[in-house]
Amino acid sequence: MTYQPSTDRYDRMPYRQCGRSGVFLPRLALGLWHNFGSVDDYQVATDMIRYAFDHGVNHFDLANNYGPEPGSAETNFGRILRENLASHRDELFISSKAGHDMWPGPFGGNSSRKNLMASVDQSLRRTGLEYFDIFYSHRYDGVTPVEETMQALIDIVRQGKALYVGLSKYPPEQARQAYMVLREAGVPCLLSQYRYSLFERTVEAETLSLAAANGSGFIAFSPLAQGLLTDKYLQGIPPHSRAARATGFLKVEQVTDEKVEQARRLNECAIRRGQTLAQMALAWVLKDERVTSCIVGASSVKQLADNLQALQNMSFTTDELGEIEAILR
Ligand code: NDP
Repeated sequence: MTYQPSTDRYDRMPYRQCGRSGVFLPRLALGLWHNFGSVDDYQVATDMIRYAFDHGVNHFDLANNYGPEPGSAETNFGRILRENLASHRDELFISSKAGHDMWPGPFGGNSSRKNLMASVDQSLRRTGLEYFDIFYSHRYDGVTPVEETMQALIDIVRQGKALYVGLSKYPPEQARQAYMVLREAGVPCLLSQYRYSLFERTVEAETLSLAAANGSGFIAFSPLAQGLLTDKYLQGIPPHSRAARATGFLKVEQVTDEKVEQARRLNECAIRRGQTLAQMALAWVLKDERVTSCIVGASSVKQLADNLQALQNMSFTTDELGEIEAILR
């Protein structure tokens, strides 16, 4: 049966202005790093995109290397769009990125102009899109001058291949420089994308305020610490979890006793708030005014539905915040 998006989809999601721009993004976006590749179930992937769109999630986050195999998440996403959302392109905000290993040889995995210009064309071909809404430098590679990478992003916008540009995981020093180069070229950084969760708070030191001071929005990735901030690992490692999958990026060694114990105590706190741990972890990331949005991953519609419920209770009492800090200390 032909998919018909729900007509009340925009009533279900709050949207937040992204930095100093006219773009309003959903508080929750869906990431396609895992579960959308050629090894995954295409029907489940389709159902998740439909469910997301039906609930106001109109921002989808990709990168050239998402899969496995690398590239296949973009290919699958393009097909899902054509089969389900072909007439809704202007309602969608779609990102891609380049900078991690993608093809063999010296040009296949850094932040050079050579890599970015080839990558954006490859990603457009795979998705079948005419343009990305935002194209990111996926990382600072430690070698390529920031000016070179930024000039490539600027030219990608000037060539009409992306509407906006973003930075991912740039250390503060390089981010500062990048914001300046982009601003002076009249292509300001729309979004800064970094890992941020109850378990990973490095960005609180400098990055969050640096992005805000430069007019960039901030989007958090892995807000559930790849699943550690859910109740799924409280009784061991379940067979179909990311930690158990050979292709998953969460390694068994990362599921430590300390993390599981903290998750157990956070889970008790979440239950007292009438939430699941996943919902509380998302609400906690989104409580910071500087956070525009966060990108969740999901391996089923059920998880996505659980996560979207976070939007029903996003405020914390001082006591709750104190209790959370004590658990994490
Ligand atoms: P999360 O921290 O949200 O982890 C998602 C995983 O947690 C799911 O795949 C699922 O794993 C589990 N999970 C999610 N919801 C629930 C739930 N309600 N109950 C139980 N388990 C749940 O995010 P990701 O690490 O997936 O990252 C999100 C996105 O961020 C990526 O898809 C990508 O777009 C972006 N990203 C960007 C990076 C960058 O370098 N810029 C790096 C990494 C991510 P399971 O398979 O175990 O069910």
